[in-house]
Amino acid sequence: MTDAIHNGKRSVVTGGASGIGEATAKLLVSEGARVCIVDQDQEGLKRVVDELHALGGDAFAHTMDVTVPEQNDELAEVVTDRFGGLDYLHLNAGIGTRSTILDGDVDTWERVIAVNLTGVYLGMRSCAPLMISGGGGSIVVTSSVAGVVGGSAMPSYFASKHGVIGLVKAAAIELSMHDIRVNVICPGVVDTPILGERHKDKKAAAQIGATHLLNRIGEADEVAHFVSYLLSSKSSFITGSTHLIDGGLTCTNEPAPKAVQKLRRARRRR
Ligand code: NAD
Repeated sequence: MTDAIHNGKRSVVTGGASGIGEATAKLLVSEGARVCIVDQDQEGLKRVVDELHALGGDAFAHTMDVTVPEQNDELAEVVTDRFGGLDYLHLNAGIGTRSTILDGDVDTWERVIAVNLTGVYLGMRSCAPLMISGGGGSIVVTSSVAGVVGGSAMPSYFASKHGVIGLVKAAAIELSMHDIRVNVICPGVVDTPILGERHKDKKAAAQIGATHLLNRIGEADEVAHFVSYLLSSKSSFITGSTHLIDGGLTCTNEPAPKAVQKLRRARRRR
């Protein structure tokens, strides 16, 4: 425990068996928090919780599907039994499924909305009361750049990620009177298993990375550090805010290298 900024903070991280959630759970534990990782992937949870224990963390895993209301209520009960309350909530579980409006099926649409949007609502609904009875807390939701700009072939993903940004604003307003801050993060492309066969593929990473101003894709740790900050009291004056962590992906409507080339040409002309 080198840095204990979270010093015993009781935390829940959904989607904690992989990617951004795994990185956040590890960082929180290494900074002194107590962490419950939540996922539907039992094997992944076992692997990550073993690693959290190896880091010396007070951590446990809870297997559930974030789309089921009763399972969210059970989560709140389990966390109360184990931690006696809740300070931090990272609602991060998510899926992305390729489809189109014209050819996609309704089941795909409904599942993506259920996990990425309704799952976040249910997590807040069941877990915020624990924070209220403890006098406050901090919630961070994972949206995406897909929550602030449009894109092709994933309409349910774009709709759900835009939706949670609205949900976070509503939650920040409603929960402010209970000293609960609620923020949303919008990562650019991050190298996690959600990328499917493009995960850990150097060629794909270079191609996708070229659309980011920093000319690379992100790492889960880079997102986790910002989540850790937003959860902590270091961000005590920030709520209801949407935060891009996107390597400059959305800062121009031109492909990044073109934007950079344009500036370089302008500098040469001066
Ligand atoms: P990931 O696939 O590594 O992790 C997502 C986790 O969510 C998985 O462990 C999965 O089992 C879990 N999950 C999915 N559905 C669930 C359900 N119904 N109940 C419980 N757990 C469930 O991907 P990641 O990149 O770490 O994704 C984390 C979040 O970040 C997601 O919301 C994703 O949309 C968002 N995001 C990812 C990227 C990226 O490029 N990786 C970019 C922007 C936003």
